[in-house]
Amino acid sequence: MSTSDDARFETLAIHAGQEPDPVTGAVMTPVYMTSTYAQRAPAQPVGDYEYSRSGNPTRTALEVNLAALEQGSRGLAFASGLAACNALLDRLEPGDHVVTGNDLYGGTWRLFSRVFERYGIRFSFVDTTDLAQVQAALTEHTRYVYLETPSNPLLRLADIGAAAELAHGAGALCVVDNTFATPYLQQPLALGADIVLHSLTKYLGGHSDVVGGALVARDPAIGEELAFYQNAVGGTPGPMDCFLVLRGIKTLAVRMDRHCANAAAVAAHLEASPQVERVHYPGLPSHAQHELCARQMRAPGGMVSFELAGGVAAGEAFAMGTKVFTLAESLGGVESLVETPPSMTHASIPAETRRAAGLQDGLVRLSVGIEHEADLLADLDRALAAAR
Ligand SMILES: *Cc1c(COP(=O)(O)O)cnc(C)c1O
Repeated sequence: MSTSDDARFETLAIHAGQEPDPVTGAVMTPVYMTSTYAQRAPAQPVGDYEYSRSGNPTRTALEVNLAALEQGSRGLAFASGLAACNALLDRLEPGDHVVTGNDLYGGTWRLFSRVFERYGIRFSFVDTTDLAQVQAALTEHTRYVYLETPSNPLLRLADIGAAAELAHGAGALCVVDNTFATPYLQQPLALGADIVLHSLTKYLGGHSDVVGGALVARDPAIGEELAFYQNAVGGTPGPMDCFLVLRGIKTLAVRMDRHCANAAAVAAHLEASPQVERVHYPGLPSHAQHELCARQMRAPGGMVSFELAGGVAAGEAFAMGTKVFTLAESLGGVESLVETPPSMTHASIPAETRRAAGLQDGLVRLSVGIEHEADLLADLDRALAAAR
C-alpha cells in the first residue's frame, strides 16, 4: 500500500492495495485476465498466484482495499453479496443457530430460510432494534448475531456496539451487513463487530454496472477460515468486476456526501406531503433511532422509504409516475431509483410475515442518487400527483 498507516478514509479509498504497476508504472490496477500462472518447477509458482479461483492480483488489490476501509485484517471478495453470505454460513454446522433481523434484505432472508435451514442451521428472526429481543433469542448454540443496519427497506437501526457485547457474552460473533451505510458512514468493526458483509453491487461499486460481494474479518484466524470457504466453494468474482468496484470505491466519499444531502432533502419534502403517512429516514427527528444514528453513523445515508395512503395501488402508481427516479430494483448507484418492496424486492417474503414485520402495503423505497436536488424534488411532486 502506497499510503501511510494513519491515512484518512478518502486517501485509503484511492490508494490502499493499489501501487502503480511495477512493470509499466500504470497508475490504475491492471485487469489480470488470466485463469492460471506459470510455475518455475512443480509447485513453485513464479509469483504469489497459482489459479485465479484461489487468487488473482486484481482481486487482491480490491481485498486489501476493503480490509483497509473497514479497519479489518482480511478482506475477501465474492461474485455477489449473497455468495459472500453463503461463505459466511458455510462455517456453521448443523444445529448451529443465528439471531438475525425480521426486515432483512429479501435475498438474505431467502438464503437463510430456504437454503440453510434445510442443512439444519436454525434462525431466529427478531426485531434487532430491540436489544431485549436479541438477548432473549440467544442460545448456547448461537454462532452469529447477524445485523443489517440500516435495515432494508424500513431503515431501522441496530446498536452495533451493544449487540456485539451481547453476542460475545453468548460466545457468538457479531456480523454486520454494512451495505446500506458503507464504510464511509459506519465502521462496524471499530464499534465491536467481528465480520462485515457487503453487497459491492450497491454503493461501493456505485454505478449500477457490476454485481459483487465482500466479507471483512477483524480477527486473522476468522479471515483465514472464511478464505478457505471462498476458495473451497468458489463464489469468486472475475478480475474485470474487481476493477470496476475498485474504480467505484475511489469516489465513494464524495458520492456518499451528495447521496446523504439529497436524501435528507427528499425525506423532509416527503414528510411535508399530506399523502405520505410515514417517512423512514434515520436523519429525521421523527425516526425512532435518530439519536443512535447520530452516535453510530457519520451521516444517515442515501436510502429513504415511505408509506403512501392507498396501499399497493398507490405505491405502484407513484413508482410509475416518476421520470428522474427509474423504476428498478437495487440501489446505491449514482442514478436515483424507485421501487415498491411488497411487489418487488420483498415479494419473496410471504405477505403475512411482511406485514408482521411492519412492512406496509403502500411502502415505496427510494435510492436517492446524486442528480440535482431540485430535479429530484420536482419528480417526487409529479409522482405524488400521479398517485393521488
Ligand atoms: C443487495 C443486497 C444484498 C445481496 O447482494 P447481491 O450483490 O445482490 O447478491 C445483501 N444485503 C443487502 C443489504 C443488499 O442490499
